[in-house]
Amino acid sequence: MINSESNPFNEALQGFKPSRQSRFEGHPNELEKTPEELQIIEQASQLLEQELRELFPDTPMASERQLRVSDFIFLADSDIKAMGRNRREVLGFIDDKSKKAIINRTNSSRSGRLMSLFVTLHEGIHLKSSGFFEHNPQGQQSNRAGYQINNGEAGYKLSGFNEAVVEWMTYDLIFKNKDRLNQELAFTNEDWGNLAQSYKDQIAVISSIVTKVSEIDGRPPVESWKEIKKGQFGGQLMHLRKIERAFGKNSLKLLSAMGDEVGSEAARSRRLTLIKEYFCSADQRKRDEIGRQFFSDDANQLRAA
Ligand SMILES: [Zn+2]
Repeated sequence: MINSESNPFNEALQGFKPSRQSRFEGHPNELEKTPEELQIIEQASQLLEQELRELFPDTPMASERQLRVSDFIFLADSDIKAMGRNRREVLGFIDDKSKKAIINRTNSSRSGRLMSLFVTLHEGIHLKSSGFFEHNPQGQQSNRAGYQINNGEAGYKLSGFNEAVVEWMTYDLIFKNKDRLNQELAFTNEDWGNLAQSYKDQIAVISSIVTKVSEIDGRPPVESWKEIKKGQFGGQLMHLRKIERAFGKNSLKLLSAMGDEVGSEAARSRRLTLIKEYFCSADQRKRDEIGRQFFSDDANQLRAA
């Protein structure tokens, strides 16, 4: 059960100074959650719990990272735009300041209940990923959010990879539970037809990585995928070294540079196109050539800047 009163981070919050606690308050225009939205949050919570139990059996991970009603703030599209999120049709995002998942009520309800569940689970996974709520001894926030690394002025690394892991995991989990979800939430074929996966280019890259790394490891692809999913919550990055073994030197640099563009932005991004070509290309000579092209593009951009 989800309970808005009990906060799984109460213990973690005990050490916080009052000023830090005050940052956990909601948004002034927060919309009251409908019974349907509460039900969707509860389902998302169950799905995440299922995943964490499978990935980390015999550890308290699943109970420590439970999704709560208070983790989510529902806002109207106009308020979301006022927060500067007008780059594209936003369904949800994580607000770094309040550490809450913000759901766009206007856009997500327009896309139907199943899509609302999809968005809620996707943002919920971001929220419970490695990095959030973790502090170094100086009390500073971790610079990690799942696989995404915030390098300050140098920008973000692995952001496209991070999105693809979250999106694919969400998709997998929802489809694995299709029958139960249909029974409990009465989704229709039309709902399933409207389910749209985002970050398609980045997912193609991960899919290719999983296939090739599993060949090198001599394990089924599902095991390599599991290792990637575990890193999302546990914070391990060492297994990414296998990507260099599978795709050659510089491949981690390219993967780090993969951004989180979607739709027309993705289609216009030469950087994303090159990275996708690199990872989805079958032969190493082609990859080396794309790699050279990528780094010479990069050098030109740096000179132009
Ligand atoms: Zn996301």
